[in-house]
Amino acid sequence: MKPGDEFFDNPAWLSGIDWKEQLAGHFETAGNMLGATRFPFSDNAEDRILKEIAVEMGRENTFSLVDTAVYYGDREKETDPYFDGAGPLRKGCTGCAGCMTGCRENAKNTLDKNYLWFAEKLGTMIFPETKAYKIENTEGIYRVHTKKTGRNGVTGLFEARGLIVSAGTTGTLELLLKQKFYYKTLTNLPDPIGTNVRTNSQSISGLVEADRKLNNGVAITSIFSPEPGSHIEMVKFNDLSGAITHIGGFSANHPNPKKRAGYVIAGSLRHPFRMLKLLFSFRWGKRSIVMLMMQTHDSAMKMELKRGLFGTRLRFDRNSGKVPAFIPVGQKVLHQYAEKVNGTPLNSLTESLFNMSTTAHIIGGCPMGKTGSEGAVDGNFRVHGYDNMYVLDSSVIPCNPGVNPSLTILALSEYALSKIPQKTAL
Ligand SMILES: Cc1cc2nc3c(=O)[nH]c(=O)nc-3n(C[C@H](O)[C@H](O)[C@H](O)COP(=O)(O)OP(=O)(O)OC[C@H]3O[C@@H](n4cnc5c(N)ncnc54)[C@H](O)[C@@H]3O)c2cc1C
Ligand code: SF4
Repeated sequence: MKPGDEFFDNPAWLSGIDWKEQLAGHFETAGNMLGATRFPFSDNAEDRILKEIAVEMGRENTFSLVDTAVYYGDREKETDPYFDGAGPLRKGCTGCAGCMTGCRENAKNTLDKNYLWFAEKLGTMIFPETKAYKIENTEGIYRVHTKKTGRNGVTGLFEARGLIVSAGTTGTLELLLKQKFYYKTLTNLPDPIGTNVRTNSQSISGLVEADRKLNNGVAITSIFSPEPGSHIEMVKFNDLSGAITHIGGFSANHPNPKKRAGYVIAGSLRHPFRMLKLLFSFRWGKRSIVMLMMQTHDSAMKMELKRGLFGTRLRFDRNSGKVPAFIPVGQKVLHQYAEKVNGTPLNSLTESLFNMSTTAHIIGGCPMGKTGSEGAVDGNFRVHGYDNMYVLDSSVIPCNPGVNPSLTILALSEYALSKIPQKTAL
């Protein structure tokens, strides 16, 4: 999803650039590459209920079906619907709702069906299951040391004049912080690396045991904004899925963290069999949904390297800030929804027992800044302190988009790559 204006207006962006305008064309390119298509069916039971709640909250105008990276065409005959025959063959979506655990029907537009497909076609070599662990820079040449994942991983060494780090927020932060503080190979890396890590101000809840089927169509089909700066979506899973519900316990609808924890513990003691059923039953997919609450509100934490029992690893600095673990308006929608389908509302156990946020949208950690003391990367996502080194992934999203982040990551990457001059042929 493309974020709204609050995202582009946030002061975390480098000043002096109209980011909304600059990125507009890149959002479009990224959307085209992903085959972004509005979910075409408007009569799903679960979407109708979400819309009903939007109406009851006076927010009907914010309800919509979502854009999805899915092909909805012919389910029998394979075709390349996006790239005039230059792309891979695809088959239409069957609406099994299994997108989160991988599409078996060749309908979901994952990166190997677009960006990576063309990269390989144009001669890029891709080395799967290969982890970079050490980076050196000698006289402008980057030397990247790698290990194959798994036991007795074979090591490798890659050399290049330019480097793009794209290991996702936690992967990138661990890699960069280790070069600065552990291997001490890139000591000029900027100090702000690891700051401004965000969760999209997300909280994850859900409901099970509904009185009807709630997993029609693809995994995410609709969205609405229950209050300015907030969005709520339902995530659905295939009939045979259920693992996600194991992160949840009885819903504790109270802003006080101690009371929430007490309520969950007391509820579990009062109803032990019900709690065990919630934790250990499988195949919840059909009559369950997970609710994603996402907010543009500013909240951030810091991540740093810490030594522990299992070696030097990335950890949150607990004193560095707070991200929300309880969002009242999200709870309101959850309970309203559960009532309408006679379901059991759940909250993530980390949120209700430990007051710790749960997120699928970890972003930030490489903030933007004009200099290395203000940020990790400049306005073109070049790392301060080193030549020809970029970070292009979720860690450079400067603030919470309040919607799912993948399209934004691609738009920022498209923007950064458009600023690198084309190589001329020798
Ligand atoms: C369950 C779930 C569902 C989601 N659903 C959606 C959705 O519907 N829509 C949406 O927009 N977003 C969704 N997200 C969020 C989205 O997946 C992420 O925000 C996005 O994938 C982040 O992209 P990235 O390129 O930063 O990192 P990633 O996609 O995590 O890619 C980083 C890659 O780098 C690799 N890596 C890490 N460290 C190293 C290393 N040292 N060396 C080499 N490789 C390394 C990782 O293995 C990984 O393959 C979801 C997230 C989760 C967890
Ligand atoms: S619902 Fe998702 S997993 Fe199922 S066919 Fe469609 S894209 Fe694939």
